[in-house]
Amino acid sequence: MKLETKVRQTLKKIKLSTPKGVPSVRGDINTKGKKEKILIALSGGKDSATTAYLLKKFGYDIEGLYIDLKIGKYSEKCLEAVKKLCKNLGIKLHVYDIEKERGAGMCYLRSGVQEKKAKLRNCAICGVLKKWILNREARKLKVNKIATGHNLDDEAQTCLMNVLKGSPKLSFSSGPVTKNISDRKFIPRIKPLFYVAEKEIRKFSKQKKLSVVYNKCPCALDSYRIQVRKFLNTLPEKDKRNILKNFEKIFVKNKKRRKDKVEYCEICGEPSRNNICKMCKLMR
Ligand code: SF4
Ligand SMILES: [Zn+2]
Repeated sequence: MKLETKVRQTLKKIKLSTPKGVPSVRGDINTKGKKEKILIALSGGKDSATTAYLLKKFGYDIEGLYIDLKIGKYSEKCLEAVKKLCKNLGIKLHVYDIEKERGAGMCYLRSGVQEKKAKLRNCAICGVLKKWILNREARKLKVNKIATGHNLDDEAQTCLMNVLKGSPKLSFSSGPVTKNISDRKFIPRIKPLFYVAEKEIRKFSKQKKLSVVYNKCPCALDSYRIQVRKFLNTLPEKDKRNILKNFEKIFVKNKKRRKDKVEYCEICGEPSRNNICKMCKLMR
């Protein structure tokens, strides 16, 4: 199945309203056109660039957000690529400068955390910060949804890592759209590439000549994820898909579970599962 068809089917599955005048997967045209505004988390990489390209092509109302983590030359190159991509696609770009907003670049902020919590991996810290920033900025920009470029390989890795760590519950609500959380301060996140393999996206982004940085982030030193990735890459795509399917089945079985309780962080006011959010716990 073509990559574009897979993405259209995913958008249909998560009931992302088809933009006005655009044919749906079944070919019918939406004439009412409830427009949702979607913020794409652009990293400079192929996955988020492909997400932006397709949502724009399908007629959605999208804007981009680049979080400038100030990881030296790498961040500079990514910003350049994102600016070019947005110019080519005609997308409004917002840039969040972590130095200006948080007082320091990611490497400095992260080493501060690791002085106290040495075991925490680079990407775990960076990921918490980015999610916090994304939700806050998306709310400020009054968008209905956030779209990220997570693909089939990323998701299968995360599910398997959670199983191997003995915390499969962490993946029970994994899927192409956030589940179990509904709160006025929480902006739902969608993953249009959830069922698309990494190698397909790489090929697609090259075919379409998207403005992308193909080098890996120099801070991506999560050796555990690398090990899991290497193992999963020895399996056929069908097996990766099955890992995700199993988790989706578990979620359906647990559907009657209460929705996750949302509190507001006592420090920053952001939605959180506890009285202090993960970001503030890391930074204090
Ligand atoms: S690879 Fe890790 S450290 Fe680099 S930007 Fe992504 S989450 Fe952050
Ligand atoms: Zn907080």
